[in-house]
Amino acid sequence: MEGSRAIGVKLATGEEVRARRVISNATRWDTFDKLLSNVTLPPAEQKWRTRYQKSPSFLSLHLGVTADLLPPGTECHHILVEDWEKMEDPEGTIFVSIPTLLDPSLAPEGHHIIHAFTPDWIDRWQNLSPTEYEQKKEAAAWNLITRLEVIFPGINTAIDYMEVGTARTHRRFLGRVDGSYGPIPQRKLLGLLGMPFNRTSIPGLYCVGDSTFPGQGLNAVAFSGFACAHRVAVDLGI
Ligand SMILES: Cc1cc2nc3c(=O)[nH]c(=O)nc-3n(C[C@H](O)[C@H](O)[C@H](O)COP(=O)(O)OP(=O)(O)OC[C@H]3O[C@@H](n4cnc5c(N)ncnc54)[C@H](O)[C@@H]3O)c2cc1C
Repeated sequence: MEGSRAIGVKLATGEEVRARRVISNATRWDTFDKLLSNVTLPPAEQKWRTRYQKSPSFLSLHLGVTADLLPPGTECHHILVEDWEKMEDPEGTIFVSIPTLLDPSLAPEGHHIIHAFTPDWIDRWQNLSPTEYEQKKEAAAWNLITRLEVIFPGINTAIDYMEVGTARTHRRFLGRVDGSYGPIPQRKLLGLLGMPFNRTSIPGLYCVGDSTFPGQGLNAVAFSGFACAHRVAVDLGI
């Protein structure tokens, strides 16, 4: 920053890269709280924070199972809602995808991949010792597996391989703030239609990705990349 204008980035190595325009693909929370921590949060960003919040993360299981678990005709996607009152609770609804039903080459012959995931919050995984964390992961995984028996009877004896991911896993390996899926409206408002476009209040600084219109998800962020490139090109007079 020079005065109130973005003029480049300083890398973790200390190297400085100057540019006429700077685009941040980090979330607005990361951009303004971490990358611009010495800059007062602009009013537009304060307003955004009153309108949007971080969605939860996921507890995610990737299971390798023997193929005979799945009878012919098994559907690729399932959603298990046991209690409508708990639909949005942590570990409430379970979502299931079985990619190997569409592309068997993804797993060794005679096996399938079951990806089961459920909303979860990072707070539930903080302040644990390594042992407590491992034990909690294991317990949460088997809790999900037991519940999946309704859809896949015998699943607990068909498992050949298991990977468990928590909100902490998504934060660490995806670099997602709190492992969040992305911004969601605090209230109904305009849903994701109220998301800001790519310019920010700081001249020369743009945001791209799921902190900008039209919000979270891979299709949406692809659109946001296109829109941001267009915006910058127009602003540069190209
Ligand atoms: C567990 C999980 C499952 C999801 N499943 C789906 C799905 O099935 N379908 C779907 O459409 N969407 C899904 N989403 C949402 C989707 O992944 C996001 O909306 C999308 O990836 C956002 O893209 P992005 O480019 O804005 O941000 P990201 O993909 O998060 O990219 C931002 C990058 O910035 C990096 N970064 C952050 N801070 C800094 C910093 N200070 N310095 C340098 N780099 C930094 C991060 O490491 C990251 O690589 C899921 C999200 C999560 C977390």
